[in-house]
Amino acid sequence: MSLYNMELDKVLDKIQKLNAKTVALQFPEGLKMKATKIAKYLEKEANVNVIISGDPCFGACDLIDSKMKGIADLIVHYAHTPLPLKTSIPTMFIEAYSNLSVHDVLEKSLEYLKPYTKIALATTTQHLNLLNEFKDFFEDNGKEIAIGSSKNTRKGQVLGCNFSSIKDLNAQATVFIGSGNFHPLGIRLFTHSPVIAIDPYMGEIREMSEFADQILKSRYLKIAKSLDIKKWGIIISSKEGQQRFKLAKEIKKTLEEEAMEGYLIFLENITPDSLLPYLDLEGFIITACPRIAIDDSLMYEKPLLTPQELEIVLKKRKYEDYQLDEILFHERYD
Ligand code: SF4
Repeated sequence: MSLYNMELDKVLDKIQKLNAKTVALQFPEGLKMKATKIAKYLEKEANVNVIISGDPCFGACDLIDSKMKGIADLIVHYAHTPLPLKTSIPTMFIEAYSNLSVHDVLEKSLEYLKPYTKIALATTTQHLNLLNEFKDFFEDNGKEIAIGSSKNTRKGQVLGCNFSSIKDLNAQATVFIGSGNFHPLGIRLFTHSPVIAIDPYMGEIREMSEFADQILKSRYLKIAKSLDIKKWGIIISSKEGQQRFKLAKEIKKTLEEEAMEGYLIFLENITPDSLLPYLDLEGFIITACPRIAIDDSLMYEKPLLTPQELEIVLKKRKYEDYQLDEILFHERYD
């Protein structure tokens, strides 16, 4: 368990405080390999029943609160920060900060940052603890660093569907700290300016422009393919954190005003198979996780568009004003 801080003492304290008998554990896919070790430890140390949630979990938008009603006394949700969702079961969020050393990759990144003096920093939950180290290092090397705040996330944190912490920072480039292309791609599409992704796991540094341009091109093709569609499915997620009913209903109304048809479809897991039965629908608008349309698009035969992409189809937005769909969690729940 050395790569991440799983804060088991904190969990034991909470179990004791609540006198919990059954504890449910929820992990993102990348941490599920720790599940049985943690379950065994808690069962032994706290004499509780532990249930591991086996379903996929990609964010705090996907809590198991309603599923565990009447079953668990405590939910421990790993590796995400809380969203403003009300839960009926006490829920602990453990950030699972990574314990990786970043010194070498930081040194290496300076070469990539030569053209820029003003840089924004962004990261995900696991590396929020590294932000100050990154800031100090870059400042010592002559850079001006901006770390933004937002009502939707922690300082400097981005989600795959929310980049409000890096909005209006007026930086020449953004440095993202973390693994994979998912978040840095989102930042590039959101800011339309250079993104340098520093991956402390692989010791790798990537400039995201080329990849993001490819994705943007493929989005334009999907939009172009959708211009003659008259019959749409409008997908609403049954995951509480991703539910945007109001938006879905507005889209339906807009489609009807344009002499098109729109059908609201309520789904938990959006997969190619789940959309197969709707033979008469020609395309789908996703009001659930915005990244399904962007990142999983190739898996689907029919176009899956975001609400902003639909606006381009309907000529209410220009291609040049392409905008990534975001879930503004605080506006949703305020
Ligand atoms: S809606 Fe999608 S991108 Fe946003 S937190 Fe949930 S899984 Fe991540």
